[in-house]
Amino acid sequence: MTPEERLARHRRLREADHRHLWHPFTQMQDWLGEEPIIVDAAEGAWLVDTLGNRYLDGVSSLWCNVHGHRVPEIDRAVQEQLGRVAHTTLLGLASTASIECAEELVRVLPRGLTRVFYSDAGATAVEVALKMAYQHHQLRGDEARKEFVSIRGGYHGDTIGSVSLGGIDLFHRIFKPLLFPVHQAPQPYCYRCPLGKRPESCAMECAGEVERVFEAHRGKIAALVIEPLMQGADGMIAQPSGYLKAMREICDRHGALLVCDEVATGFGRTGTMFAVEQEGVAPDLMTVAKGFTGGYLPLAATLATEEVFESFLGPFESRRTFFHGHTYTGNPLACAAATASLRLFREKRVLDGLPAKIDALARALEPARAHPHVGEIRQRGLMVGIELVRDRATREEWPYEARAGHRVILEARRLGAILRPLGNVVVLMPPLGMTAKELGDLAAIAVRSIELATARP
Ligand code: PLP
Repeated sequence: MTPEERLARHRRLREADHRHLWHPFTQMQDWLGEEPIIVDAAEGAWLVDTLGNRYLDGVSSLWCNVHGHRVPEIDRAVQEQLGRVAHTTLLGLASTASIECAEELVRVLPRGLTRVFYSDAGATAVEVALKMAYQHHQLRGDEARKEFVSIRGGYHGDTIGSVSLGGIDLFHRIFKPLLFPVHQAPQPYCYRCPLGKRPESCAMECAGEVERVFEAHRGKIAALVIEPLMQGADGMIAQPSGYLKAMREICDRHGALLVCDEVATGFGRTGTMFAVEQEGVAPDLMTVAKGFTGGYLPLAATLATEEVFESFLGPFESRRTFFHGHTYTGNPLACAAATASLRLFREKRVLDGLPAKIDALARALEPARAHPHVGEIRQRGLMVGIELVRDRATREEWPYEARAGHRVILEARRLGAILRPLGNVVVLMPPLGMTAKELGDLAAIAVRSIELATARP
């Protein structure tokens, strides 16, 4: 393609995008006045746009890419599956790809999780978990357990059930009249502790607050739903060590299920296959999506223990069936990609290579720590949030209108990396497959972008 043909193609696509698309989580009035990056191809950690520019994929194409783009083993698995069948249903039928994928997944799941209920997005996996937890208690005759507890600042997806659990005011407030009530406990946000504690005076009172919620609604709580170790979408809010374990103990004391939402943290993202492993916690239900297929295709799962599964068993007439399903549940192409991704974890010992990469990223971000507009850098594995502040000494936040995070990511684009902010938090979520050199380059771009964006009024 000549440069002129390339430009003409880009312009045609831009016009069509502006005419027909409605982008998620995007103020479309701004979008229609901006020059979009149109991704056309990718290779490894790099995205290539319609003009031939290359960018490091600094957020794993929304937190889901694992081994990089165009991984030969996953490409081949999807192509081979296409040679057999693209889609068949799991409603009343089984399929080779969904069975092999479940087998491969269960091998790496936290202890006790042995049942795989497929769906196609993080939000649907959470909806399934909510309904499973609720029905589980009903079927056991514990009929008063109809209520849920979640953590303020949590994010579990955009369907009505998952928004009901959600605690991000900006996203969720408008929908309040549509939601069912959920008890929300204070956020374990150490940099801005809602209980006014300082590290030296903290006895993890935030965990005590969760217990107080359970006590106030004794015998009525079906489950606690939590993002383990790190709340992602609210700005990478890292929980204090021991917090998740305390949540497990509270659920046990109160006869409630612990639902861990590993949609963002799963598949090596925090340094272990699943975040719960770092606190030795075994959830009753767990949700996965995003990185499940290596970031190739939409596939999610709600994982359950045998105890939860068995409560649904009974003769046909008992109507103990879990009446829930999605058309593309267990899609064979997506399952083939997931199986190939999980095999890569095993065969290439991906987790063993992570400590060096996590270290390299932390070291490369070091220069930002002292920057006058960086309040805190929160890192768990290859999951990083850099909180920008107007004033480092007082921790004063940038106002919403200042679009501090957005300004940084525009600079990053010019320097060759795609990042996506969460308000005033610059997020780095590189694919696990990035090399140490690429991680260093990505961090250097992030640091430089912060300097450039905050140097201007
Ligand atoms: N749960 C968590 C923890 C997430 O971070 C997300 C998405 O960011 C979701 C659920 C929703 O996933 P999806 O966008 O696939 O519905």
